[in-house]
Amino acid sequence: MAITRRHLFQAGGAGLLAAPSASGAFEQFFQPASTTSSEVRKLITCCGFCTPACGMQVTVRDNIPVFAEGLPGDAHGAGHLCGKGASILNFAYDPDRLKYPMKRTNPRRGLDEDPGFVRITWDEALDTIAERFQRYMTDYGRDSILFLSRNSPDLLARLVNALGLINRVDHNDICYTADQVVRKYTTGGKSWCEDFENARYIVLFGWDLVAKNKMPAVNGILAAREKGVKVIHFSPNQTPTSRVASEWISVRPGSDPAIALAMINVMLTENLYDRDFVNNYTNFAQFESEIRSHFTQYTPEWAAPLCGVPAETIRRIAQEFGRARGMAPAYKKTLTANYTNATQMAHAQAILQILTGTIDREGGNYFARTHSVPGVDAVYPPPTYPQKLGRRVDGRDQLFFANDANQGMFSTLADGMLRRHPGLIKGAFINAYDVKGFAQPLRMVEALQTVEFIATFDFLPSDTVNLSDIVLPAGHQLESNDIITRNFNAKYPQSVVRQAVAGAYFEARGTGNVAIELGKRLCPDYFKTPDGAWISGGTLLNEKTKRAGLGETFTEFRAKGVVAEPRPFVPRTTFNVPNSGGKCQIYVPQFKDKGFEPLPHWHPKREQPSAEYPYYYVTYIPGTHRRNTTQNCSILHEIMPTNTVTLHPATAARHGILEGNPVRIRSRVGAIDLPAHLSRTVREDMVLVPHGFGHRSRSLGNAANKGARDGDVIPDLTPEEMLELMDFGGSGAIMDAVVQIEKLRS
Ligand code: SF4
Repeated sequence: MAITRRHLFQAGGAGLLAAPSASGAFEQFFQPASTTSSEVRKLITCCGFCTPACGMQVTVRDNIPVFAEGLPGDAHGAGHLCGKGASILNFAYDPDRLKYPMKRTNPRRGLDEDPGFVRITWDEALDTIAERFQRYMTDYGRDSILFLSRNSPDLLARLVNALGLINRVDHNDICYTADQVVRKYTTGGKSWCEDFENARYIVLFGWDLVAKNKMPAVNGILAAREKGVKVIHFSPNQTPTSRVASEWISVRPGSDPAIALAMINVMLTENLYDRDFVNNYTNFAQFESEIRSHFTQYTPEWAAPLCGVPAETIRRIAQEFGRARGMAPAYKKTLTANYTNATQMAHAQAILQILTGTIDREGGNYFARTHSVPGVDAVYPPPTYPQKLGRRVDGRDQLFFANDANQGMFSTLADGMLRRHPGLIKGAFINAYDVKGFAQPLRMVEALQTVEFIATFDFLPSDTVNLSDIVLPAGHQLESNDIITRNFNAKYPQSVVRQAVAGAYFEARGTGNVAIELGKRLCPDYFKTPDGAWISGGTLLNEKTKRAGLGETFTEFRAKGVVAEPRPFVPRTTFNVPNSGGKCQIYVPQFKDKGFEPLPHWHPKREQPSAEYPYYYVTYIPGTHRRNTTQNCSILHEIMPTNTVTLHPATAARHGILEGNPVRIRSRVGAIDLPAHLSRTVREDMVLVPHGFGHRSRSLGNAANKGARDGDVIPDLTPEEMLELMDFGGSGAIMDAVVQIEKLRS
């Protein structure tokens, strides 16, 4: 009998792929596979943990993946994987992984309730979801369904569109929206490729790109430093990026916009900008007097007391930056994008880039050159979609630019479900999101407790899974096929294959399959090809491959692994900014038209220290883990099993706290208890807590009850607050909080 992966697991977890004990994790998984087997293949795929999609080579022995390593010569990982990528097999074969569809038998829904799941068939699970959703849509309207999911893959988006669901909600408001809206109206679309290798001077506001472990960015900044390029890192705490940088400058949390505004002031006052670019490719000439007069107020002397950086330091850096034509890349999840003044910061950073003439230029930020891969709607044009009518539960319709971006709103969802539209949502489909991704996760739990029926598609038994009525087991990236177009080092088009190096794990399925199966049941006309057959994921992928010019079939593309089309980099001379005549915009008339500020003003972040809550609360995503999803992975758990709160020794001394003492961190909305870690890498006026911990699901063997949820002390937002704060997105939901510290008895 052939040995399959399933047999290995059924043998009691003692086989090659069983999760190792924590102590043996490294020895077992960081060894190249033996080549003595009769059937050993090396398959090319890419890592799906994060956006760079580093090239990966997986050794497969007798149809079992046994070792993953970087793809030699790959343009993104350069032959390496970060710790997360290197642990991918351990993650994929987590013994706690969901294996079968299940239904809840315990009607009480809560984080500490045992859901009493029992195994059911896929047909029963899908039929139940379809029957419930159809009933709610008929009885209460289409706005009674919450689809908590990204707008991808395209098959899932088609399902949402075909059902006319207005309430699709994702996390992008807290990560991207402010940046994306600002870039659309200043430089035109996303420009998230950073040409660090050719940069002449780099200013990073908070972005801890070295610890964050995005390989192309890390390799780029290291290459720049090796060439002697000056890197300035403004950050409240000293991080691995600070240690790589030429200068680490400690700033008061949330005050970075003051520095950026003052740098613009210096560059304009001293004419340290790229005249050719600014005069020819921007609307500077049209609004010069408004622009110059607006920034006059933001001198380095004005900024210094706000940010705690001496005026002469700000002036010197602005002069060096301007003269060198430097780059100041903005990036999601930086310490600057995580406050309610992220919109102003993103706008100021865009202006800094524009003034140095480094938009879509070598040594600056540039737009990704990618293959054009059609979506399902281009391959199989759908019947007309119904209008999305009804009430938007998260209030996004009150926020013009967030609505325009079609993203979010994690930051306002619980408030919408509990305060503005209580009882609106009857049924929810949750695609691999966990409540820990929200500010005030317990408020989100309370909101989900008001929903009659929840179906969740996920990989591990998360806290959200345990709140659900139906659970669908998700396939892993190593079990799926796709085309990944790259948008990090993307001066020319490159696409890399994602291929199934392993068969399906027990009864796990991919998202596309679930979308098609629900589509067949709920809106069949949208899931048929022109000749009346059901849309099939495999046929669709073949068609996409062919139309993108990557091969005649997906099989042919898979054999190539990577398709790259090197070509000279030709800088843009027209920019895709709406109604701008092809120019970048420093002054944004569209913001003014909608009641926002056409030029960035200084806004303090929402939460400011007070006598009751004297400390800034700062969070971060450790490079060891992928947000809140990998804490149960044995290898990554061994490296970082839990979280602590980092305090400056002087701060700790004021409270009589020693290393390891339990402390309570409390804000106006909640409290968390964690052991203290003392370090001079943080400021005396802040506390630092890593995100991702505090899982309560008892089904997670490694992660359950380790650490605390950072979000418990972060106030969520309302649309009214965001309008008042002039914030396009929900950035404040990541860490805009102030706290008090209390020593607990050991
Ligand atoms: S940076 Fe790490 S996690 Fe991200 S794609 Fe590359 S190997 Fe994977």
